[in-house]
Amino acid sequence: MLSAILGQNKERTIDRVKPSPYIAAMAVRDILILPDKRLRLTSKPVAKVDAGVRKLVDDMFDTMYDAPGIGLAAIQVGEPRRIVTIDLAKKDEAKEPQVFINPEIVTASDDKKVHEEGCLSIPEYYEEVERPAAVTVKYLDLDGKKHEVEATGLLATCLQHEIDHLNGVLFIDHISKLKRDRVTKKFAKAAKLAAKGAAK
Ligand code: ZN
Repeated sequence: MLSAILGQNKERTIDRVKPSPYIAAMAVRDILILPDKRLRLTSKPVAKVDAGVRKLVDDMFDTMYDAPGIGLAAIQVGEPRRIVTIDLAKKDEAKEPQVFINPEIVTASDDKKVHEEGCLSIPEYYEEVERPAAVTVKYLDLDGKKHEVEATGLLATCLQHEIDHLNGVLFIDHISKLKRDRVTKKFAKAAKLAAKGAAK
């Protein structure tokens, strides 16, 4: 998906069309793709919510909306810090950006729910994952203030998926070994081919 976007930009340059000021101001970062080893790192807690953190959050939203995706963990743009951005608003609805700094699951419900999940780091692959239906998550906001949210539905799934990223866990770790091996192999092969192509 990212390469397609880069490809479009290249075409624009060839066509000598100036990018709009809006696009120029955006800081869309490269998203790490499976099997990038950094996706397996455990991210470090944010000690202080400062200007650097806020800039990273801005970049994360730009990257997430550009992809497009509904959730992103900082490690997916190569920053091993415990920061998550989420926006569950539908295409035709107003944006609802949510930031979770140092998010931590406090409680998880016994009842489970199955959702189809996808991941910007594993493009175009979707699989059903079973997780607790409800979770309580504590976190800091962009002012460093403490909050707690009781999440259900899509927010519960999304928060668990993104918090997994902060611990180096991917959603494919929750599916059968057979399916995981198959998708891991496919992405390893694609990365090898891409590396070969780049070396030429
Ligand atoms: Zn993901």
